Amino acid sequence: MSTTKIGVLALQGAVREHIQHIDALEASGIAIKWPNELKEVAGLIIPGGESTTIGKLMVEYGFIEAIRDFHATGKPIYGTCAGMILLAKKITEGDQPLLSLMDIEARRNAFGRQRESFEAELDIKDVGHRFKAVFIRAPWIENVSKNVKIMAEFGNIKVMARQGNLLASAFHPELTGDLRIHKYFLGMVKEA
Ligand code: GLN
Repeated sequence: MSTTKIGVLALQGAVREHIQHIDALEASGIAIKWPNELKEVAGLIIPGGESTTIGKLMVEYGFIEAIRDFHATGKPIYGTCAGMILLAKKITEGDQPLLSLMDIEARRNAFGRQRESFEAELDIKDVGHRFKAVFIRAPWIENVSKNVKIMAEFGNIKVMARQGNLLASAFHPELTGDLRIHKYFLGMVKEA
């Protein structure tokens, strides 16, 4: 059986850590720098970073259409932090390029200055308990349509969700040694 290949969009942001997590599972992480490389992978992770920068580069390199097509073929996509913003159909403020695939509205930098970055332990549906989540200038999820399943909340703030083959988290799961979310995503890819 051949190894499942998962792409990590490598335009900007926390790429290497995601690849290391994928490689630590029974799969292979591939840095995706060009749209035509998407055909080699069965799933895609859009990392954290700066969503305005990643979005601009996506437009420049032709990734907006390419990733929408990738999604249309039923292949799973996971967006973390800035990646979650890029997956959202809407953001609460401003105008920037988005993939607009997931029925969520994201608020950028939602936790404010006092809480620029912090860690929290979350109970995540279908993933497990006490997942140490690292939030860095993180967004949160405001409005969701009823097709979206909320997988984790911090207090009563929505921070992780799934809609079909789309997965999104406001936090960075690649910055600790916990592989459970990557394993869950790999499961989605294998089922697809
Ligand atoms: N604040 C960033 C943005 O709005 C996201 C931060 C992150 O990905 N860690 O794009």
